[in-house]
Amino acid sequence: MTDITTAGVRDGAHAIDDLFYRDDYTPIVADDLMLEEVVRGADLPSLLVALAAVTHDMSILRPGLRPPMQAGDIGVPLQGGLTEAQQHEAREVALEALKRVRDEKLTSVGTLTDDEVQAIVTYVTNDGNPAYAPMLLHEVDVAPGYSGKPTWTLDEIAEQGQDFSVAVFGAGASGMAAGYRLKQAGVPFVVFEKDHNVGGTWWKNTYPGVRLDTPTYGYSFSFAQRTDWPRQFALGGEIDDYMREVVRRSGLDQHIEFGTEVVRSTWNESTGMWDVLTRTHDGTERVRSFNAIMPAVGQLDRPKFPDVPGRDTFAGAQMHSAEWDHSVDYRDKRVAVIGTGASAYQIVPAIVDEVESLTVFQRSSPWMLPTPSYYDDMTTSFQWLIDHLPSYGQWFRFWVLWGSTEGRAHTVIAEPGWDKPGSVSATNERVREALIELVREQYTIKPELVDKVIPDYPPGAKRMLRDNGVWAYALQRPQTTLVTDGIARITPTSIVTHDGTEHEVDIIVYATGFLASEFLEPLEFIGRDGVNLHEYWGGDAKAYLGISVPNFPNMFIVSGPNTGHVVNGSLFLMVECAVEYALEAIKGLVERRETAIDLKQPALDEFVEKLDAASATKSWGRKGVNTWYQNKFGRVSQIWPFTVLDYWERTRTPDLDKYEVIA
Ligand code: NAP
Repeated sequence: MTDITTAGVRDGAHAIDDLFYRDDYTPIVADDLMLEEVVRGADLPSLLVALAAVTHDMSILRPGLRPPMQAGDIGVPLQGGLTEAQQHEAREVALEALKRVRDEKLTSVGTLTDDEVQAIVTYVTNDGNPAYAPMLLHEVDVAPGYSGKPTWTLDEIAEQGQDFSVAVFGAGASGMAAGYRLKQAGVPFVVFEKDHNVGGTWWKNTYPGVRLDTPTYGYSFSFAQRTDWPRQFALGGEIDDYMREVVRRSGLDQHIEFGTEVVRSTWNESTGMWDVLTRTHDGTERVRSFNAIMPAVGQLDRPKFPDVPGRDTFAGAQMHSAEWDHSVDYRDKRVAVIGTGASAYQIVPAIVDEVESLTVFQRSSPWMLPTPSYYDDMTTSFQWLIDHLPSYGQWFRFWVLWGSTEGRAHTVIAEPGWDKPGSVSATNERVREALIELVREQYTIKPELVDKVIPDYPPGAKRMLRDNGVWAYALQRPQTTLVTDGIARITPTSIVTHDGTEHEVDIIVYATGFLASEFLEPLEFIGRDGVNLHEYWGGDAKAYLGISVPNFPNMFIVSGPNTGHVVNGSLFLMVECAVEYALEAIKGLVERRETAIDLKQPALDEFVEKLDAASATKSWGRKGVNTWYQNKFGRVSQIWPFTVLDYWERTRTPDLDKYEVIA
């Protein structure tokens, strides 16, 4: 294992940009039979790539074995869509190559040449759009020169006495990515974190059943490619451990001020800096000045509670999913879960067989994406390859990321003139019907639930949940009641629905989501000419590329408005893109000896116009759809409606025509 002090040293400053890089593989000693078994159970496209890389023999990636990867409507096709015959041939090729790795005692990939990485990208993308290559190579830790690591340091580009400092707000995934790149660039920075932990979401959400709902291997920083994940969908605690390990390995902990809340940031016209007011838990306030600020506080931090009368009168225990109270023993109690979103669908199956009764309050039902392997460990073949085949885990991660790059985006595009309720296009309708079919198959014990659990909105309008059958199981247990009448009020002992039914409960769990549209609240930002960010936004957050807002010079938001995804993409890639954009902006400012850049209003207006037009053509942008991706004005402020590649390309470097430069 390596750490930041040695990462990159092996092949020069910019070679390996991966805190988890390892070159300590031991030679393979397994016999042919064992290798055959490994190959039989392996994911073939990623295996062929790993073998080509370690042997540096690109002929392994035969054109006839390129995965067609036609995007699946409800999932990534198995083995990249290779036919049976192709799979047979691929196994033969893989077995020979694996024997070669053993016989030649190959224990490290070393670094790949440009031609080699291009050959790999051509194979993986099936000779598709070459524009994807730089974006994909950003994710390959053995391809020198492509990573997101800054190619400069402040010392190298600043003149004597020229300073630049940055304040990062929040030590979740976004703040960690920001801190990591700033550290690499040698830019002085502080990360202010109001709590006492890193990782944001992942240390806060400890509810029963918490785990990833995107594949584990697509859920890591490009600069911290952990590859020994045991599960296909990691448990919350495992991600939390990962986040802390990244901070430890990178030395980021030296830069984080825990227990320090950012209260207000004020642009100081005379100094051309941000004056940042912080408050520690003991009430101590302090103002410090920074050349730039990077708010990275996420949107899923502030719990949202239903506005129901009587909530405060409830005499039993009540808690939000993100504030789970582990001192409350729910076993053998009557528990209510309000909400049926991404948190509820993990909590409900986790507790159903331990409670006396479970009442699930559903306002709208979730679409469920078939994922039989949701609770599964990685396979034995996979584990063996991780342990023995150099950099296999990195290639598998690469493959998973490619699979999710455009993912199921084709299923949510609205067809002009399509007026069938519940879908937005023929493809979307096809997905709808396939999913309904699966629902019907699952609800055989309580068939009366079928009508209640089929959503009336188009697939993709909200996050689709992972379905391995446990949700349907939980809803059909004798102790479970699915309530679809709206909640009228809460009494000291019950929840009363509009039809007058009183549901007596001991514990209420609010799995009701977050104040996601209230970007950057409750932090206060006062920009140029005293403009207050939240007044300027008026509850409708807009930022150019999710990053820049007019009147707020050198403010680079990470995980800002419209940078989320529903059916494709990677949160980490989006976050890293925003961070790299900010670093490029900082580099430019230092090199040109300028103070700041401030987005021009027309640049934002033009961007938002196109953004809104694109959102309107997606299922989540449909008018009348109730989704937290839309804010109170019905405008989609959460989701990036273009391709991932588009975000990547637009965030490579700031277009200075769109900014006013402050000398
Ligand atoms: P959510 O998806 O917003 O779900 C909230 C649920 O509460 C919805 O079913 C909503 O119904 C319901 N609800 C809200 N207000 C209500 C009210 N007044 N009365 C009745 N029902 C009400 O929130 P979440 O489940 O916490 O998930 C939020 C996001 O966090 C997810 O989309 C995902 O991005 C992330 N997340 C990820 C994971 C993971 O990766 N493992 C797990 C959990 C969460 P409506 O649908 O009708 O609004």
